[in-house]
Amino acid sequence: MKSKATILGIDVGGTTIKFGVVKNNKIIFEYMLPTLAYENPGKVLSQLNIGVKKIFEVYKKSDFIGIGIGFPGKVDIETGIVTSAPNFRNWKKIQVRKSLESYKLPIFIDNDANCAALGELYFGSGNNLENFIMVTLGTGVGGGIIINKKLFRGESGGAGEIGHITIDYSGPKCKCGKHGCVEAYAGNNYIKQRTIQKLNEYPDSLILKLVDHNLEAIEPKIINEAAKKGDELAIKILKETGYYIGIGLANIANTLDIKTFIIGGGTSGAGKTLLDAIKQSIKNHGIHDIVRDVRVIQARLKNKSGIFGAASLVLSSQLYQK
Ligand SMILES: [Zn+2]
Repeated sequence: MKSKATILGIDVGGTTIKFGVVKNNKIIFEYMLPTLAYENPGKVLSQLNIGVKKIFEVYKKSDFIGIGIGFPGKVDIETGIVTSAPNFRNWKKIQVRKSLESYKLPIFIDNDANCAALGELYFGSGNNLENFIMVTLGTGVGGGIIINKKLFRGESGGAGEIGHITIDYSGPKCKCGKHGCVEAYAGNNYIKQRTIQKLNEYPDSLILKLVDHNLEAIEPKIINEAAKKGDELAIKILKETGYYIGIGLANIANTLDIKTFIIGGGTSGAGKTLLDAIKQSIKNHGIHDIVRDVRVIQARLKNKSGIFGAASLVLSSQLYQK
């Protein structure tokens, strides 16, 4: 999908806000500010305004067709209110869109998981696909559902909570309070804990050397690096993680008959080892006729997914479809 329009994409994260000017399928200018989420909502809104102002000092505001904002929280897309944001101090029903109204541009806001799916649809691996499921592996496991080239939001905007599909109702407790969610196996901290538990059996693992025996420093990047160098434990952990994710995704495949799964986020950097394990597990757990030609591919946007995803909100809006 080519777009010549200029869009401001804003990726609000727990520690930094990234502002990106998107034009001709590229980010032509990028600017970053601390989010100050640990202070108060007013500070966060003020940072947003400072960043937007800065962009319009460099680029002519009249060239822009709109502003898209991806936010790590629950978003009411109609009102532009972020109703909750777990990692933001004192955050409760904050009018994010209204705080930027004075710029008199169309503003669209949605949660970061939905943005990631739209980003891959407009700018990434999902560009030529009618239907796909986006899975983002990070601290949490996020998801987005694209059907007929549109994001499926569900009846109350909550669709795509792939991380909280139960794969074992008596499994480990997830931070959502339920048991055996995909996230309780594939979220960063859970992967780290499983790795630490297994290190006793693999005292020579390269993982230990890479973190200089500081177990707290174990993270997906380290495990991916060790696996690429052939470390037995790292490969085992990735295969296991893929196995668990695949059970969850097989349920989605069975329900929706969607054949393509795009995997993004830090752990997806493991590449083939993880993707093949996910694919095999979907095949083992799904209905044969539905899953035999399933495709599991890597997200293309990597660390640019936040800005591109936010910009996609503008492209996917009514405004642009008309
Ligand atoms: Zn859960």
